[in-house]
Amino acid sequence: MICLGIESTAHSFSIGIVTDNGEVLSNETDMYKPKKQGWGIIPMEAAEHHKEIKDELLKQALEKANISMKDVDIISFSQAPGLPHCLYVGLEFAKELAKKYKKPLIGVYHLIAHIEIGKLFTKSNDPIVTFTSGANTQILGFAEGKYRQFGETNDIGIGNAMDKLGRELGIGFPAGPKIEELAKKGSWTELPYTVKGMDLSFSGILSECARKFKNKEKIEDICFSFQETCFAMLTEVTERALAHTGKSEVLLTGGVAANKRLQEMLEIMCKERGAKFFVCPREYCGDCGANIAWTGLLAYKFGQKPLEPEKAEVYPRQRTDEVDVVWMK
Ligand code: AMP
Ligand code: MG
Repeated sequence: MICLGIESTAHSFSIGIVTDNGEVLSNETDMYKPKKQGWGIIPMEAAEHHKEIKDELLKQALEKANISMKDVDIISFSQAPGLPHCLYVGLEFAKELAKKYKKPLIGVYHLIAHIEIGKLFTKSNDPIVTFTSGANTQILGFAEGKYRQFGETNDIGIGNAMDKLGRELGIGFPAGPKIEELAKKGSWTELPYTVKGMDLSFSGILSECARKFKNKEKIEDICFSFQETCFAMLTEVTERALAHTGKSEVLLTGGVAANKRLQEMLEIMCKERGAKFFVCPREYCGDCGANIAWTGLLAYKFGQKPLEPEKAEVYPRQRTDEVDVVWMK
């Protein structure tokens, strides 16, 4: 069985083609970059980008997989959560393909897709998931029939915080990798540490970093301390979720999972607790069609009812624990 997955929750438009034994035949992604330098994502502009690129990416994905649309058994798309303008482009494209080629249409909750592709590639079984992307930061785990949020950011995602810090420091977008490099040459400067119960917040830390930059503190020190503080916060909440659930695995994923220092901190914590630590392969950490395709396959195979194209919708603000995960039952 082959599924074609369409991802369009935010800045990336991506098409992945995956088989039901977990082989990724292709995974073609094109990322929108704001036209104005120094700006963040402008939803309408990003949606325009997705519309312009979609046919070309489909062609590329099919060519790379060496198949045609008649070989595709299922079409899945990112249905939630995300930027409405962007989600609609994926929805309309998926509906168009499902109708034209008469294929079942499956809506996928994209955060759960990040978890499932991570489980596929790391062979982790029942992890606490430290999900650190641009727009989202959540500590998730499966409990009582649903993926549940044990902790999350109360304001912005950690990736977004890094990109905003990057703009303040004038180092461009996406800023994560540059902050990681600069941090290697930095030393400690005091920042607020903001864990509230199981939740996190990054915007106050960001403001303090901006203030320090204006006061001519070293950019390397700001990057180092930002990472040490935010990653320690993530590690603390992840550890508490492990303790609370009694699980024995941690899976790190989302774009920020590429960061070696974050990996190191979580790994040390896991070692101390006797838990196993997994990192999703970099290629599949970020938004991509492959994770939507793989999760669409799981849903379809385990009996999730396909959507009627005319009635299919997107759910920009849906929460993880509202989603039915038929394959986990
Ligand atoms: P996603 O939304 O999952 O595609 O993740 C995108 C985010 O990952 C952006 O905010 C990037 O700044 C961030 N990112 C990418 N590489 C790194 C890195 N090495 N360290 C920290 N953040 C990173
Ligand atoms: Mg994502």
